[in-house]
Amino acid sequence: MTVISNHMPTAELQALDAAHHMHPFTNGSELAAKGARVITRARGVTLTDSEGAEILDAMAGLWCVNIGYGREELAEAAARQMKELPYYNTFFQTTHVPAIALADKLAELAPLDLNHVFYAGSGSEANDTNIRLVRTYWAQLGKPEKQVIISRKNAYHGSSVGSASLGGMAAMHGQGGLPIPGIHHIDQPNWWAEGGEMSPEEFGLERARQLEQAIQELGEDKVAAFIAEPVQGAGGVIVPPDSYWPEIQRICDKYEILLIADEVICGFGRTGNWFGAQTYGIRPDIMTIAKGLSSGYAPIGGSLVSDAVAEVLNRGEFFHGYTYSGHPVSCAVALENLRILEEEGIVARAGSETAPYLKQKWEALCDHPLVGEATIVGMMGSIALTPDKARRAPFAAEAGTAGLICREACFANNLVMRHVGDRMVISPPLVITRDEIDTLIDRARAALDQAHARLTDEGLMRAAA
Ligand SMILES: *Cc1c(COP(=O)(O)O)cnc(C)c1O
Repeated sequence: MTVISNHMPTAELQALDAAHHMHPFTNGSELAAKGARVITRARGVTLTDSEGAEILDAMAGLWCVNIGYGREELAEAAARQMKELPYYNTFFQTTHVPAIALADKLAELAPLDLNHVFYAGSGSEANDTNIRLVRTYWAQLGKPEKQVIISRKNAYHGSSVGSASLGGMAAMHGQGGLPIPGIHHIDQPNWWAEGGEMSPEEFGLERARQLEQAIQELGEDKVAAFIAEPVQGAGGVIVPPDSYWPEIQRICDKYEILLIADEVICGFGRTGNWFGAQTYGIRPDIMTIAKGLSSGYAPIGGSLVSDAVAEVLNRGEFFHGYTYSGHPVSCAVALENLRILEEEGIVARAGSETAPYLKQKWEALCDHPLVGEATIVGMMGSIALTPDKARRAPFAAEAGTAGLICREACFANNLVMRHVGDRMVISPPLVITRDEIDTLIDRARAALDQAHARLTDEGLMRAAA
């Protein structure tokens, strides 16, 4: 048998990949024709591919490598734990030290009285837990008809049947018979695309009040919870107007609807504080966590639950759990990740020093002829590409055409920046330095110039009617 290693020629690796590996969120035949980029190693914010190119990863993998690549301490924590106790479950009245220690640390870091964690293997699993958890909570209180969870269009909450139903991605709902019953979607607070003539503040209020209308239409006695990302990530880093979250909080309080903050991206320093809930001053009853929890070094997610909700849930048995709930190796890695993020002041420094520097540079991209708006919170930002800034107009070409051209230009300039439709998004590791931010911006500008030239050449700098 041939040994498949980093030393194989790229084309052979790509051929084997195409033959046997089915990629997530990918058109397989298109990728097979072109060949996947093979990433071989990484340090800090820099990836190396099989051709030796050094690429600045402005996406921190999939929004998760908050601590940066190559931290030996995390590898050592995993190895230590694997040797001592590689696996044991937490189902049948047993527990273990990594699960205990991480739960204790999370209770300390989390705001408010979110003092309890239900572990999962990923963000999707944690949101599936949340669906059953909030419905079971209301059933325990004698209100089993409170079942409906209100979410938002263009939200991303995961890819399993339950979590993708919570999400509001039309393309995902179009495959496999989603959403499941009992999920209701309201509009997103995306002022650039949908705000029309309203000011951002008016628009934020209008979108938040859709929650109140939905509660009134569905019936207060039918609604269990509202779920939202503090800042929509995969939907294109949609930063809500300042008026949005206070109004959502008022409505959740008034109607006693549980508030679930999906902190899978926003958590662990991404928005400049430990949690997005702190950045926006909201008081969630439940927070979904994953991604930055372990900086992606090991798979783990969870639901952080308030004292009040945990007390009700603990009155009975919750028939729910995953084989890998509280996996000891993942817990040990997450704990080491949190220790470093805290002790080295990575979250604090990103929030007070590097994020403000990035913000200034990022917002300056607005002077580029292709860029309509540039928004950023902490270490997550986006720019809207447009052929007509004054009208905030979309392109006449199919949505995503310009974004894809820009992403390809980023690739060619050794920068990983993702496109969501015709928005470009970044979410770099929190350890990115000022020099690396300068490099990121230089490459982004070069890519924007090239994309602009190509769009102009191909006659695509035209606005939709
Ligand atoms: C990525 C993501 C999820 C899903 O997490 P997985 O670990 O991919 O299952 C859920 N919610 C948000 C906000 C995410 O960004």
